[in-house]
Amino acid sequence: MTKIYTVVGNRPQFMKIDKGMPHQEIIHTGQHFDYNMSQVFFKQLGLPKPKFNLKCKNSGEMFDKLLKLFKKNKPDLVIVYGDTLSTLMGAIAADYAQIPIAHIEAGCRSNTKMPEETNRIIVDRLATVRFATTINCMRNLHKEGIIQHSHYIKGDPMFDAMNSFLPIKRTKNNGKYILLTIHRDFNDKHLKGILTALGKTDEQYIFPAHPRHHKLKVPANIKLIKPVGYKQMLSLESNAKKIVTDSGGVQREAYWMRIPCITLRDNTEWIESVNDGWSILVGSDKDKVVDAVENFTPEPNRHQSEFPVFGVHEKIRKILFKYI
Ligand code: UDP
Repeated sequence: MTKIYTVVGNRPQFMKIDKGMPHQEIIHTGQHFDYNMSQVFFKQLGLPKPKFNLKCKNSGEMFDKLLKLFKKNKPDLVIVYGDTLSTLMGAIAADYAQIPIAHIEAGCRSNTKMPEETNRIIVDRLATVRFATTINCMRNLHKEGIIQHSHYIKGDPMFDAMNSFLPIKRTKNNGKYILLTIHRDFNDKHLKGILTALGKTDEQYIFPAHPRHHKLKVPANIKLIKPVGYKQMLSLESNAKKIVTDSGGVQREAYWMRIPCITLRDNTEWIESVNDGWSILVGSDKDKVVDAVENFTPEPNRHQSEFPVFGVHEKIRKILFKYI
């Protein structure tokens, strides 16, 4: 009997899971475990409950437990998504256990020194089959000589997940606030400066913060809240006047929803929205952030860059089963 293991563990992976994948058993590493960082996605998206909850406390434990599980149960394929530590440990453990690996969201590069990019580069090397969701990501794989068994899929699991909640209702606060998310390690040292600078602007902010930032002191015009559920987040995004973020997923959702995005990065792997003028890269420079908050206005009719099409999971499945 065919057995496919999907390894997840972090917020930006849950909405990417293919709930229609046959023979699938989900492994949750436990990296994100707060209700609003994890279970809420399973509930809201109707995802099958994980078969294995590994409750890992660190990457070493993740690797050991995954390797043991793979060796014992010998799945036919391991699927990993994106760029997190769970992605990396899932791929390394599968490689050690000599199990084929599928990497979904391959080839994303921003040439930024950050752990997420390191994870992606390694997983792309180890993977048996790779799925790039944009032409740019596919080109990156080609540049690195990873041509065989790399597939470009004009679609994005996040796009399909987001669309399953459309239309999103207009709330009474529509257009009255700026949504803020900051969680990349490289922004930690700039976080206070950025928040102080935003505190001096004439705007109201909503900041669903990562659990490690819950104790931060913020200016009065910034409402720091706990992470919100997926549906709530989509509503916060689509009703925002602008979004300030360093998140990969939020950048893309902002683009698809046509919300101006101020991206707290020097480079991004998601170049489509920058090329179309819907996202501006301001790095961690607080003056540039404030300037963009006050002045950044995309050209409303310019929205022509590559846009995902629906049905990504079906397309991936068709190819994937050739590898089993
Ligand atoms: N998200 C959410 N609640 C929040 C913050 C983010 O549901 O409080 C969603 C967001 O809509 C997007 C994804 O989580 O779909 C992005 O995850 P994150 O920013 O943690 O990771 P990244 O995309 O940077 O890897």
